Order: sequence, then C-alpha cells, then structure tokens
Amino acid sequence: MVRWGNVKRGVRSRLIVKLTLCTLAGAVVTWGVAWGCAWVRLGVLTTTKQTLVDAQAIRAAEEFGIPSKPPFTHCLLTLSEGSGFGLTYRAAELQRWSPPSFEGVAMTYQSDGLVYARESSSGWPFIAMTYWVSNRERVPKGGVFIGAEVMPLRILPLGFALNTLIAAALLRGIKEIVDLARRRRRARKGRCAECGYDRGGLANDAACPECGDAASG
Ligand SMILES: [Zn+2]
Repeated sequence: MVRWGNVKRGVRSRLIVKLTLCTLAGAVVTWGVAWGCAWVRLGVLTTTKQTLVDAQAIRAAEEFGIPSKPPFTHCLLTLSEGSGFGLTYRAAELQRWSPPSFEGVAMTYQSDGLVYARESSSGWPFIAMTYWVSNRERVPKGGVFIGAEVMPLRILPLGFALNTLIAAALLRGIKEIVDLARRRRRARKGRCAECGYDRGGLANDAACPECGDAASG
C-alpha cells in the first residue's frame, strides 16, 4: 500500500491537480446532463393526481410554496407528480371552486384566478438539480429562463456529488483507454510511446532521447 506521506511532493501536487480537473469535468458533465434532461423532457408521464378542497387545499398550497394567500375562499388544489428520463416534477394547480349547490352541481373556474406552480428536478443517473416556478412569480426560484424554457440552477448536493463522481470516473476511464491506444499505436510504429519521438536506429533498451522515457518496446 502506498502511504500518502511517502508520495513525493511533485507527484502529490500533480495528483491533486489531476483529481481537481477530473472532478471539475465531472461537475460540468453533471450540470450539462441535468440541463439536457430538463430540456428534452423525454417520456414525461403524470403518475399521480390528487385533488384537495378548501382548508386542506390552502394548507397544501402553502406547503408547495404557492405565494400569498389564495384569493378565493372556496378553492380546489390539484397536485400531480410525474417523471421521465432523468426527470421528476411535482405540480400544483389552485383554482376557484364553488361547492355543490342545491342542484348538486360543483363548479370549477378554469381561467379565473388559477395559480399554477411546478417543481422540476433533473439529472441522470441521480436527480441533481431543481427549480420551482409559478405563474404568479416572474422569476423562477433556483432556475433561469433560457429562451422559453426554465433550466435548473439549484443543486441537490447528494445527487450532484454522486453524478459528479460517476461522470469523473467515466471520463477518467475514457482518457485511460485513449492514452493506451495512442501508446500502442506509437510503439507499433517504432516511436516513443510517451512522446511519439521516432526511435529508429536506437537500441531497444535505450531511453528516449527526447523525453527520457524508458524503452518499453
Ligand atoms: Zn519520448
């Protein structure tokens, strides 16, 4: 086992730089994937729907973050939940409602005073970013308008960290494969695997005159 204290300072700082760059690249990929999933909205389906009335509806609306007190005494709240590829959302629609009259007919008012709010989260393989938007607020919370679409800005720490680790590991793996393929190609052509210097005329065990890499054949 390699003891951290025994690792040479130069090697150690190079390792830290490499890890930092790798993590940053993983974070960029995680961000990009979360935005991609939010943009594409692949296979989004409403999975549950629930309707609440009056006091219950108002309480649930407040919990959902629907701003200010609803401007109607009798109201009806429709909560829905859905998911798609790398995407989940919860939405709430608060409507004016009149309870059943003597004739037994309940009325909802579709356009009059409807308050709509939605919380969308995205990321893959784990949900990593989220925003909240309402038709009563000009600016989305934790999100930003890109054209007509809202893209998430608020980071969900656990999901973002996990996705970053996975992306960083994948990027690292891809880089290793590319590097290995390049070293093999160079060696096959009789060039230094490290820097590509033409080893023609050099003894097989001679170090590379260009970069000092030990000959590996
Ligand atoms: Zn070389």
